[in-house]
Amino acid sequence: MHNQDPRLLSTGQTESRHDDMLALARLAMQQSYSPYSQFKVGAVVVADNGQAFTACNVENASYPEGTCAEAGAISAMVMAGARRIREVYVIGDGEALVTPCGGCRQRIREFADATTMVHICGLEGIRKSVTLNELLPLSFGPEHLDQLSPSSDTLDDNA
Ligand SMILES: [Zn+2]
Repeated sequence: MHNQDPRLLSTGQTESRHDDMLALARLAMQQSYSPYSQFKVGAVVVADNGQAFTACNVENASYPEGTCAEAGAISAMVMAGARRIREVYVIGDGEALVTPCGGCRQRIREFADATTMVHICGLEGIRKSVTLNELLPLSFGPEHLDQLSPSSDTLDDNA
């Protein structure tokens, strides 16, 4: 699901914007389907056009088939036509910081750059804000493949 409420797109102050995104993150977290771990996670991905996309973790009886909140929010962003992430909020409960897993750090990287902010949140608010580069240093991204685009001849050879 994504939110197109214009109030969320026009908030000027950083604090109120954070508050709005935290509210969305808490709502997403409440939707979590996590009967096995009981570990509820919510994520908000804010696209470069200001639109916010939310999702929760979705577990599965076949454990590896579960999906992360960040993955769902990125899917919603892509489905809406956006391709760049401005910032990310991830929320979970408990003492430890609920940081994105390794796979999600790479998923974020696909649509973000080194300076994109990732806000790690608890129910009370933002606990720590880090750049994507801090979460995933020396990362591999789409630009690495741009230098290796196969020629049409190569594609024909493989056909
Ligand atoms: Zn993940």
